[in-house]
Amino acid sequence: MPAPHFDYLAPTTIDEAVAALVKGGKDARVMAGGTDLMVKIRHRALFPKQIISLKKIDGLDAITFDEKSGLTIGATALLADVASDPMIREHYPTVAEAAESTANVQVRNMGTVVGNLCNASPSADNAPTLIALGATVNITGPSGTRSMPLDEFFSGPGMTALKDGEIVTSVFVPTPPAGTGTAYISVSQRGQLDCSAIGLGAKVTMDGNRCTDARIVVGACAPVPLRTKDAEKMLIGQELTDDVIRNAAQKASEETSPIDDVRATAAYRYKVTTVITIRALTDARKMAQRKQ
Ligand SMILES: Cc1cc2nc3c(=O)[nH]c(=O)nc-3n(C[C@H](O)[C@H](O)[C@H](O)COP(=O)(O)OP(=O)(O)OC[C@H]3O[C@@H](n4cnc5c(N)ncnc54)[C@H](O)[C@@H]3O)c2cc1C
Repeated sequence: MPAPHFDYLAPTTIDEAVAALVKGGKDARVMAGGTDLMVKIRHRALFPKQIISLKKIDGLDAITFDEKSGLTIGATALLADVASDPMIREHYPTVAEAAESTANVQVRNMGTVVGNLCNASPSADNAPTLIALGATVNITGPSGTRSMPLDEFFSGPGMTALKDGEIVTSVFVPTPPAGTGTAYISVSQRGQLDCSAIGLGAKVTMDGNRCTDARIVVGACAPVPLRTKDAEKMLIGQELTDDVIRNAAQKASEETSPIDDVRATAAYRYKVTTVITIRALTDARKMAQRKQ
């Protein structure tokens, strides 16, 4: 079935893109790689009259790293580029792994990390790790620029905190403190080919054997990628023994609210969340000990 008709705009600056989005109103949609958007249009779930591509905007695909402040991933930087970037692989290995575990090679060569976030699927593979690392999104709109914690960006399945006319220009990830370890583990029926039934991002910062900071973020087990804050509290200030990790993992699972869907049952999700939280925290602990 052919896709419904739409006009295709390719502005060359962010200001032009914002102006086009404001002018188009509810009939206009921003497009990065189009791997989510075009599927929805072809499936007639969306009928935009205008598509505003970000691809011609100079510099928006930049990936930059400053050792003191952190990593910036531009809105049109491809999943494939994030997965293979040497700086990201060295300083943020889990960010690269999450990008690499998104979809297949064809999709990674078109789709973007920022598009994955803006699509706001609860199962978005790049969200748990980026939230765990304290990422923020940089936004430009008709009233200027602002940034917000990624943790507060998702407001429901397919919904974000973006206001009318706003575009995400980049995602920023601060440099993790010394002694920080991270891990991302996802489970799905067909490996990387389909979206995750469960995704788990973990970050721990350690001083000796003691955990000074922790984040656990579960994907696809709630309406939004979910920080399990009670479980995090069970780690902070504690010696990170296997028992402490096991108890926190159990709590993390209890904090989720999964549903039965095509990818897994709720019962499966509860059980497997505990298991992969234990694995992710154990991996993160190992990395944190190495990085002290
Ligand atoms: C075969 C297949 C397999 C897939 N597997 C996975 C998977 O394993 N894991 C996974 O997480 N996803 C998967 N996806 C979904 C998709 O590929 C990813 O979400 C991808 O990262 C989307 O990026 P994009 O640049 O193509 O986004 P687009 O399709 O261009 O945009 C997605 C949404 O975000 C909006 N948007 C995009 N950029 C911006 C911006 N800068 N500011 C504001 N709004 C914006 C668009 O309007 C649209 O609503 C898969 C898709 C396909 C087709």
